[in-house]
Parts: sequence; C-alpha cells; structure tokens
Amino acid sequence: LIPRLRAHGESIFATMSRLAVEHEAINLGQGFPDDPAPPLAVAAAKQALDDGYNQYPPARGVPQLLEEIATHQRQRYDLPVDPATGVTVTTGATGALAGAILGLVEPGDEVVMFAPYYDAYAALVDLAGGVRRSIPLRFPDLTVDAEALAAACGPKTRVIMLNSPHNPMGKVYTPAELEIIAEQARRHDAIVLSDEVYEHMTFDGHEHTPIATLPGMWERTITISSAGKSFSVTGWKVGWASGHPDLVDVVAGTAQWLTFSGGGAMQVAAAEALRNTDAIVTEMNESLLRRRDLLVEGLSAAGLTPRVPEGTYFVVSDTSGIGVDDVDAWCREIPEAKGVAGVPVSAFCDEPGHGQTLVRFAFCKSEERIREGTRRLAR
Ligand code: PMP
Ligand code: GLN
Repeated sequence: LIPRLRAHGESIFATMSRLAVEHEAINLGQGFPDDPAPPLAVAAAKQALDDGYNQYPPARGVPQLLEEIATHQRQRYDLPVDPATGVTVTTGATGALAGAILGLVEPGDEVVMFAPYYDAYAALVDLAGGVRRSIPLRFPDLTVDAEALAAACGPKTRVIMLNSPHNPMGKVYTPAELEIIAEQARRHDAIVLSDEVYEHMTFDGHEHTPIATLPGMWERTITISSAGKSFSVTGWKVGWASGHPDLVDVVAGTAQWLTFSGGGAMQVAAAEALRNTDAIVTEMNESLLRRRDLLVEGLSAAGLTPRVPEGTYFVVSDTSGIGVDDVDAWCREIPEAKGVAGVPVSAFCDEPGHGQTLVRFAFCKSEERIREGTRRLAR
C-alpha cells in the first residue's frame, strides 16, 4: 500500500463495528439504522429485479432516478438542476466524493475542511496528492471562525469541503456561516464540495440550506447526497452529485473510471423512495427526535456531557467528566468493558489534542438498544 494511504490505516467505522461484533456489544458507533427500510422501497427493489434491471445501468444513472433527483433539488431548494446534464449517480455518496476530489485536485492543490471531518475526506485528498488545510470547530459551540477560515484560504485553494448537517457533530450550519464560506470560495475562485447526506435530518425547527442556493455559488458548488441515510438503506450504496453541468461532468468523468456505475435495480428503487421523500422522512424524523432525546438523557445520566444536535443521527459528548483523556483508547476498551461501542471524535481531527475527550454515539438505533446501551455506560 502506498505510504500516504497506509497512514490512514483502517476506517474507524470498520474497527469499531468489528469490536462490537467480537464482544457482542450494543453498536451505537457506526451510523447505520436499526430501522427497516421503507416497505415501498424494498418492494420497488424487488420489482426492479423482476423487471429485468440486471445489467449495467447507464454510467450516469437510470433515467428515472436522474429525473427524481433533479425534481427534488428544484422543488425543495429551487436549484435549476437539469436531469440530463446536472446529475450523476454514483456508488454511494462516497463515490461522488471520490469522483469530485480525484477529478478536481492536482498534487499540491489545497483543500480546506472543517475538523472534525468525515474520515474519507482526508484519505481522498491525500490520495489525490492534495494538501489539507483544516479549521477546527470547537466543542460545544462549533461556530465557524471567519478569521481562521480566511487565513486558511489563498491562491492555492482549489476546494472547500462542507458537510451540513455535520457528521460527527450534528451541527447545522446557519445561513450566515454559509455566507462566510461562500465569500471565501468566490474570492479565491474555489469549488465547494457540499456533502448533504443528512439534508433531511434536522430537528427543532433548524433548516438545511444548500450552499449552492447562495449568490454566486451555483456555478461553483457540487452538491452530494445519498439514498443511504435518507431512506435507511446504507447497504444499497446509491449516491449522487448534482449542480452546474460543468462540475457534474468532472464527477461523472472521473467516477466512470472508478466504478463505471453502481447497481441499476437499487437505483430504480431509490427513485421510488425519492418520489416519496416527504412521507418517509416525516415519519423517520418523528421517531429520530424521540431517540435523540432518549440518548441525550441516557448519556447525561451516565455522567457524560452531550451536545444536543440540530441535525444528523449522532450525539457528541464530552467524557472529561468521567475522567477520560484519551477517547481513542477508551472507545477501544468499552465494547468489552461495558458492552457498548461508540466512535472517538479524535479519529476525525488532525490537530493534536482536538477531540481527545469527545465521543460520538448514534441514535438511529432502536429505543431498547439506546436505553440498554446508556444503562451499560452508566454502570
Ligand atoms: N458523507 C458523510 C458525512 C457520511 O456520514 C457518510 C456515511 N453515510 C457518507 C458521506 C457516505 O455515504 P454513502 O454510504 O452513501 O457512501
Ligand atoms: N457514515 C457512517 C458513519 O458516520 C459510516 C459509513 C462507513 O462505515 N463508511 O458512521
């Protein structure tokens, strides 16, 4: 393995899920739901197989999914996405991230990102030979530091990575924060890669705003999402990028050499789920909100200090109150010691000490498992 990838080792999600299985622990670590997939999506997947969607789909995706993605972006956000030229379907959101980063970043180009960040971002930028410039979001307020951002951006900035709602922090960026980021992108002629896989998971009146809707941003933003999170089908690996045709061409032009396409039948089923987005996410968010509050309550009772997230299905908590100062080591111990698995936030940071006492637990798990998991943590 080439050294710049060797440095990334194994994805923290794989490590923690393996420890959970090994010790039969309750897995509140990796973000996949206990919930069943929506029956209408499963029925559509079966039907698609029966209907003969068993060969390569078009590289950019099946027409009905391209159409639904464009309609979704137009109706929800008033973005002028054209189904024929402004969308490409990829192998999960990860496929779109890979296509965008490998297609945009030349060796030596700088990529600005907010830490903590989703682990694949760093690995992909390093794979492309890019230079990472990261700006810390400080727990618990997590506000965007405009000066630090301005200092990190410059003539070599090619891409600014944005993830709102934010994994792992559960932060939903405010329109004012998005404008601070947009201003830097416009000033330095940078592309914003906006990872919006949690776009439908927001609570307490917080609303998701795609940065592509801000002035001057349509022509410089690639918007990425996925069926996995919105419809509880993380194993389907159907994701997409949408936006200005010139930018979508970059993603599609690169992704064709990575995987050519994903699975056609799952794309047909994802189109059916997208057509029913409102019904699916309304029901899911009601139940997620209950489970968020249950997790926050249980973690507090266990002596942790959770931050109530505005979005996603993750809660980040400070563990210094229970004496943890190396959360990575603690997360490797607790599957065996306590019968619960979580994810260390330090794994998503690069500044020494950042996230050292922060742990992420997921609430896309059953109420029973959230109750039992937090009870175990309290013991
Ligand atoms: N981005 C973020 C922020 C994520 O949390 C995830 C995990 N769902 C992904 C991208 C990858 O999505 P997918 O599983 O569709 O590849
Ligand atoms: N996005 C999921 C999480 O944050 C994990 C995805 C993965 O395992 N690669 O937990």
